[in-house]
Amino acid sequence: MITFDFDARLALVTGASRGIGKQIAGELLDANCKVLGTYSTDEKSASDCRNQFASFGSDFELLKKDVSIGSDIIELFDYAEGRFSREISLLVNNAGILKQRPFIELSVEQWRNTFEVNLMGPFFICQEFLKRCHSGGSIVNISSIGGQTGGDKAPDYAATKSAIISLTRSLARLGSGQNIRANAVAPGWIKTEIFSEQQLNQLERQARQMIPLGRMGTPDEVAKAVLFLLSDAASYITGHCINVNGGMYFG
Ligand code: NAP
Repeated sequence: MITFDFDARLALVTGASRGIGKQIAGELLDANCKVLGTYSTDEKSASDCRNQFASFGSDFELLKKDVSIGSDIIELFDYAEGRFSREISLLVNNAGILKQRPFIELSVEQWRNTFEVNLMGPFFICQEFLKRCHSGGSIVNISSIGGQTGGDKAPDYAATKSAIISLTRSLARLGSGQNIRANAVAPGWIKTEIFSEQQLNQLERQARQMIPLGRMGTPDEVAKAVLFLLSDAASYITGHCINVNGGMYFG
């Protein structure tokens, strides 16, 4: 088993209240990291998450901050510096939304909302991160297989996830002078609450035929790739995107 030690560095994980983000936050805490997480609306998941990580004491905090609101992000960074007395040097842009709808019914409002959360959010956060991170750092942006193959059920989502890969490559160039690496992880079908129970059942069945490894993935399988990219084990990797998709797409 691979273990990491992040030497009490501070990580910001967006969308840390459930699913993939919560798994990443938990694994970072286990790896000697301090973690500031965010969520925006789901109080039940937030409360469950705080309870689950209570044993980490002051090393973990989950704040209600919407990634699509620029002023929330500035407040978040200001707060982090005072509360943890160190700069955020590890960043995981994980928060994301997916609403599946036939293309011809897709409203301008949904298109905007998906872009605001999935793309504007990482833009605000990375801009602030680059302004404030002076001693080297690592960014991991969560993309999706949908951003690589296109999506007939959620083209708005697919467009944002493709753009995230492009943004990651730009950040790899922009951050290099500050010793900041930027990489992406593109998960395939991962069992989380982003899907309804009915969708999950259907995807599980389809996975047996459509995915070479014959199953959906789990949040910890994504978290492992994220921790690797955040860590010094990936010290010469930047601008890359790791697929965590069971072989569903190889590009
Ligand atoms: P999830 O279970 O729905 O969790 C999403 C998290 O993001 C929650 O903590 C949610 O909290 C938070 N969030 C949503 N909108 C937010 C906002 N405006 N501001 C701050 N936080 C917000 O989803 P997941 O499956 O873990 O997905 C995590 C990431 O992986 C997403 O970027 C997703 O696109 C990507 N991904 C997932 C899969 C998959 O199969 N599951 C595949 C490829 C990529 P609130 O609801 O309280 O805001």
